[in-house]
Order: sequence, then structure tokens, then C-alpha cells
Amino acid sequence: MSKFHAAYYHPKFLALESGAVALYFYGLSYVADKETDGFISKQQVPVLGMMFGVSSVKSIRLASILVERNLWELLNYGYQIHDYLDYNKSALQLKTLRAKTAKRVSLFRNTELMNFIKNRDRDLCQYCGVSVVWGTHGQNGGTFDHLDPNGLNTANNLVVACRACNSSKNDGCSVSSRVTREMISDLYLKIKDSVL
Ligand SMILES: [Zn+2]
Repeated sequence: MSKFHAAYYHPKFLALESGAVALYFYGLSYVADKETDGFISKQQVPVLGMMFGVSSVKSIRLASILVERNLWELLNYGYQIHDYLDYNKSALQLKTLRAKTAKRVSLFRNTELMNFIKNRDRDLCQYCGVSVVWGTHGQNGGTFDHLDPNGLNTANNLVVACRACNSSKNDGCSVSSRVTREMISDLYLKIKDSVL
């Protein structure tokens, strides 16, 4: 239970003393900031309590109320916000997303590389052969696909793909989708010597 918008009427919060509510929300803010996957160490609890003016003894008592209410779970070295990862991205997911965004941004700053790939692939989707239209969001909109999603922005890892093929690949269902593993490995071979 860590969806802010549902908190005001959620039964777990009903008649909960204000200190416990404060600790819960300070805790949520802390785990989001530090990306701890919802974990709060025992040492951190008094630090959070201090932020809204309660003593360490009181903050530990408030923590036990949150455990009783099933809002926090008691672990060996601290507390876990109940169901945190059901509603929030994990630290690893956030890291992956940030890396993906950084990679996309750096590709779109590299006009030379983008033009090289567009010319090499003659603006054709390398999976289905459709002529892509750059700057549109339709099925045949032009995108750059990383053969190895975790690989770098290099000419031998990037191909032109239509949006339909690119998104079917990102679904991860490469067996049934329009982009098969065989197509990807054929493309690896085709462009392996492609350097800028
Ligand atoms: Zn395609």
C-alpha cells in the first residue's frame, strides 16, 4: 500500500495516529529518494522521526504501529514498506530506464551516426522491409533499433526499424512476434563490419 492517492480513505490509515502517518510518508519519501526498493533500516527510523520532531523512542513505537497495521513489515535489519515494489519501480528498473534514456538522448545528438544508418539501410525497416517515415508515430514511423538492447550506440548495433517491428521486439515475445531471433542474428552478420 504505497499509492498516495488512495491513502486518505484506505482502511489501513483509518484512525491511525498522526505520528504514524507522518512516519509512513516520510518513509515513502526516503525510500523513493534513496532508491532502496522500499527498505528502511532500523537506524534510519529515528532519523526520519527527528524530521517531524519526535524522539527516537517514539519513532520506534510509531514504526511498530505501522507493522501492526501491516503498512510496514518487520525484517531483521529494518522495515520493508508493504507491497512497495508492486506500485513502484525497483532501483534496478530505475537504473535501466535512466541508462536507456541517456542512450537515446546521446543517439539523437549524433546526427552523423543517424544519417549513416539511415543511408546504409536506405530508410527501409530491416525486419519487414517497409519504407519508414521519419518523424511520425504511425506503424511505419521510423525508429532506430538496437540489435542488442543493452549494447552501445554503434553502427554495427543499430538498424532502421518501423515502429511496429521495433515495438513488437520490445514486447520480448521474439518467437511469436514479427521480429524473430533468426532475423536479429542475420542482421548482426549483415552489419557486423559496418563502421562509421
Ligand atoms: Zn518493420
